[in-house]
Amino acid sequence: MTSNIELLTRSLSAVWHPCTQMKRHETLPLVPIARGKGVWLYDFEGKRYLDTVSSWWVNLFGHSEPRINAAITDQLGKLEHVMLAGFTHEPVVQLSERLRELAPAGLGHCFYGSDGASATEIALKMSAHYWRNSGRPHKTEFISLQNSYHGETLGALSVTDVALFRDAYGTLIRQNATVRSPDWRIAEEGESPESFALRCAADLDQHLQQHHAHVAALIVEPLIQGAAGMAMYHPAYLKRARELCTRYNVHLIADEIAVGMGRTGTLLACEQANIRPDFLLLSKGITGGYLPLSVVMTTDDIYQAFYADETARGFLHSHSYTGNPLACRAALATLDIFVQDDVLTANRAKAAFLNRIAQPLRDHLAVRNFRNTGMVWAFEVESSHTDFAQRCFSLGLRHDLLLRPMGDTVYFMPPYVITEEEMQLMVSRTLSVINELT
Ligand SMILES: *Cc1c(COP(=O)(O)O)cnc(C)c1O
Repeated sequence: MTSNIELLTRSLSAVWHPCTQMKRHETLPLVPIARGKGVWLYDFEGKRYLDTVSSWWVNLFGHSEPRINAAITDQLGKLEHVMLAGFTHEPVVQLSERLRELAPAGLGHCFYGSDGASATEIALKMSAHYWRNSGRPHKTEFISLQNSYHGETLGALSVTDVALFRDAYGTLIRQNATVRSPDWRIAEEGESPESFALRCAADLDQHLQQHHAHVAALIVEPLIQGAAGMAMYHPAYLKRARELCTRYNVHLIADEIAVGMGRTGTLLACEQANIRPDFLLLSKGITGGYLPLSVVMTTDDIYQAFYADETARGFLHSHSYTGNPLACRAALATLDIFVQDDVLTANRAKAAFLNRIAQPLRDHLAVRNFRNTGMVWAFEVESSHTDFAQRCFSLGLRHDLLLRPMGDTVYFMPPYVITEEEMQLMVSRTLSVINELT
């Protein structure tokens, strides 16, 4: 039987782990996971960890969800995969139809990728190619918000504003413009999130006024900039951004890879601003956190600009596993659970409960900017430790929690199946961790 120590030793020898300085693992052990159930992950000795970050924001209904398991198992007996160029299959058709019904009206065409970053690539390419096909080939630039994150392939990095990446890979990336982020943590004293959002939108207006002739699209993470440290902002920004993009003939790309699928309280974050983007990106939670899949939804206007006799006017992009049937079935089972369990309603009650029991966290002397949108909570912790995130992670494990702070920002983004008892445990153990670190 595999043991914890054996597995982590073999992993360090053969596996290059993502987003990791491997040398750190000389002192910080990897966490071997043998199995998962609900919000819990278990190692080989039965020690458990509450997955407060939904395994990098992908899991929705817990680990090993019986209905998703059953859907994938059923599909395995029928068709594991077929190429999507020249061929089609039932799960991808059903999923595309279901998504079209759920998304803002008019996003009727689904293009599939394998992960979030490729969805970003697809949207950027499709936008610029649309302008080229429409006789405006000079519209090739993109705009993103300060501290944006849209993935880590080279194209996606060109609209990602993270200093660490920019320093390491800047020479490989075409620089695009960033505009002010409406993150309310940086509003003036006494300024409401809404008026701050509108002030930031004025910055976007100014930029578009000057540069719109060369701009293909604005890409945003609606309502929450995840990798920026769960930076939350008022939907008024999205409403204004939509108006401005329409006025200046620029596409609006809504990257809902992290915030879609109910995370912000509505199925899609865009609903809260009552807008329809030109491109809507989904990934992460779309398969309930089971299998890699992403989708770019777009309008008939954009689809029609590619519809012609010439190959070169068609959209030139493919991935081997585009529209994989197993992943599509996992996504369909995930959408079914939203209906069967009335998930959005249940989540509202859970969020209210967590906000009530989190009062001691909110009142903690070292805690700043306690904030919540839907099923995401975040706050900054004032601590004298420069390696706060690392210490908090390690200490969290000792308290049975998978906490993964970003800098001094601690956040909860738990699977939706978390119970009241599990929320109590998550909050009280986090308080203990913070008390030990401050
Ligand atoms: C995670 C994420 C991506 C990238 O998705 P990957 O599957 O990791 O490539 C893009 N945009 C946002 C907003 C994300 O949170």
